[in-house]
Amino acid sequence: MPAAKRPAKPPTENSTARALLNFIDASPSPWHAVAASQTQLQAAGYKLLHERETWKLKLGGRYMVVRDDAALIAFVVGKTTADAGFRVIGAHTDSPGLRVKTKGASASNGYLRLATEIYGGPILATFTDRDLLLGGRVIVRDKNATDGIRTVLVRLDEALVRLPNLAIHMNRAVNEDGLKVHKHTGLNLLLATIDDKQDAPNAWLALLSKAAGVAAADVLGFDLCAVDAQPGAFFGQHQEFIAVRALDNLASCHAATLAMADAAPAAHTAMIALFDHEEVGSQSRTGAAGTFMQEVMARIVASSSPATDAMARAVAASWHLSADMAHAFHPAHTECYDPLHALVVNAGVAIKINASQRYATNASGEAFVVELARKAKVNLQKYVHRADLACGSTIGPINAARLGLRTVDIGTPMWAMHSCRESAGALDQENYVRLMQRFFV
Ligand SMILES: [Zn+2]
Repeated sequence: MPAAKRPAKPPTENSTARALLNFIDASPSPWHAVAASQTQLQAAGYKLLHERETWKLKLGGRYMVVRDDAALIAFVVGKTTADAGFRVIGAHTDSPGLRVKTKGASASNGYLRLATEIYGGPILATFTDRDLLLGGRVIVRDKNATDGIRTVLVRLDEALVRLPNLAIHMNRAVNEDGLKVHKHTGLNLLLATIDDKQDAPNAWLALLSKAAGVAAADVLGFDLCAVDAQPGAFFGQHQEFIAVRALDNLASCHAATLAMADAAPAAHTAMIALFDHEEVGSQSRTGAAGTFMQEVMARIVASSSPATDAMARAVAASWHLSADMAHAFHPAHTECYDPLHALVVNAGVAIKINASQRYATNASGEAFVVELARKAKVNLQKYVHRADLACGSTIGPINAARLGLRTVDIGTPMWAMHSCRESAGALDQENYVRLMQRFFV
C-alpha cells in the first residue's frame, strides 16, 4: 500500500480542498450543484444554450446546456471532432439521503413534522442527531416564464430540522445491535411546535413560499433534500483530512468543473457531463441512461461535419473518464479490503477495476490513464473490491454500453461513503483536478 502524505503546510483559503468545501457548502441539493457549476463556468466564458433552440456552434467556442435544473453538460467545440472525438468526464450531482414527501407535513402530539422518503442508499443512522438543512427547488407559477412555471432554488438556513434519537434508556441494546431506523415511521423530520388544531400543511407551505419569495398560492411543487447543515471542515493534526457531506460525488463534479473552466480549444471536443439519479440507477431524463449526452454529442458533430458516419467516427476516437469516488482503506476494518488493491487517502487518484464490469475500466483504458497521470505528474493507485463483497457501480458502464465510449473509472479515496457526513484526504482534490486538466489537453 502507498503511504499517506500530509500537507507541507496546512491548507489555506486558496487551496483546492478549500474550494471543494465551499462548492459543497453551496450545494445542498443536485440542483444547487448544477447552479454552482454553471456559475463557475459562466465566469470562465461558457455560454448557456437551450435545448429547444437551434445551436450555432463555433469551433473553439465554450458552451453549456442544463436539462431540468439537474444535469449539466459543458464543452469546448473541437476543431475536428469527427476525427479526434470527444474527451468526456462524467460525474453525478445527486447523493443519497432523505427527500421531503409532497404531502409530508403533519401535526401530532404538538409537533409539526415532515415525512421523508429515502433517496438511494444512505447510512440512515448517520442522519440522526444532526443539524439537518432543507435545500432544493420550488417550482412556482410565473406567467412570464416558459410554460408558465419557474424554478427557485431554496435553502432553509434558519429552520433546521432534526431526527432525535431515542434515549439509551429506551433502547438498551443499541450498542450491541446497532442503531436501526425504521424506513417509514423513523424518518419524520422534527420542524416545529404546533397546536394540534393548526393546519400543518398550511404552516409548512407558508415557510416554503417565504423561502421561495412567492405567494403560497404560487407554489406548485417542490423537491427538497434534508442534508447535513454543518459546513465542511479540515481535521487532523496537520489538517490533512476533510469532512463534509456529499463528497460522493460532488468532489468529482467540482474537479470536472475546474478542469472544464481551464480547457483550451483542441482537435477533440472537451466535455463534462454531470448527471442526476446515479444513486437510483440513472434511468431518467437527466440520468446517464437517458438521451442527454448522446443528443448533445450529435448536435456538436453535426455542426461541423455533415457526413453520415461522422458520429460513429467521433465516438470511436473518444475517451470517457467516469469520475466517482472510491473506498479508502479503513484502519479499523482491515478485513474489508484486498490489501493488494487498497487505497490510501492523500496518496493519489485511483483507477477502479472490476472484472464483472461494475467499473468500465479494461487494460487499454488503464494504460491510457497511466500515461495521462505520468504526463500530469499525478500519483495513481489501483482499486479492486474484495472478491467476496458486492462491488458498487458507476455511470461508467452505462455510458460505455449505450454510447460506445472507451471508458475508464477513476476516483479519489474517501471514508464513510453515503454517510450524512463523509471524509477524505485534503490533498487528493488537487491531484484529481490536475489529472482532469491534462485529459483535456
Ligand atoms: Zn457516487
